[in-house]
Amino acid sequence: MYEGPVQDLIDELGRLPGIGPKSAQRIAFHLLAAEAADVTRLQEVLQRVKEGVRFCEVCGNVSAEERCRICQDARRDPTVVCVVEEPKDVLAVERTREFRGRYHVLGGALDPLSGVGPDQLRIRELLARIGAEDVKEVILATDPNTEGEATATYLARMLRDFPGLTVTRLASGLPMGGDLEFADELTLGRALSGRRSL
Ligand SMILES: [Zn+2]
Repeated sequence: MYEGPVQDLIDELGRLPGIGPKSAQRIAFHLLAAEAADVTRLQEVLQRVKEGVRFCEVCGNVSAEERCRICQDARRDPTVVCVVEEPKDVLAVERTREFRGRYHVLGGALDPLSGVGPDQLRIRELLARIGAEDVKEVILATDPNTEGEATATYLARMLRDFPGLTVTRLASGLPMGGDLEFADELTLGRALSGRRSL
């Protein structure tokens, strides 16, 4: 334990995902030694990210305006909706250049052990959207891991009630246990074009 603000900084950093106590300590001492201007820049970016970033009212993606660029783009096919866990997954699918539809960002995956149930995700919004818009296909592109599969299975069951709606899942071949974002463009593109009906 260090004294005062240094320990506070280590504690705060240690609460970030993927940062263990050793990394938190290393980053804290890096910041202590850094130029004041560098620390100020980091501080400003952190501030802005909470003040300036909004989430699209339609799809839940990170957005600069009420509606994100993709939802505003009339060239994107509104009849196909790709459901992903996080905004970073939108980027991963976009990188494949295989998809011309719209997205729906859930905000995570079902994980009962961590207290994430259907109400913690944007599932109600998805169902409302499918009921209100002319959606013909929903692609379940949750991560190829236990939580992602459980979420896809749950959604497939919920979506069964919509007449005329096709529900598809990314083809297998994605590295199991990983995040969508870790798949390379080619693999993810193939999984997308080879998606199978559920
Ligand atoms: Zn959007």
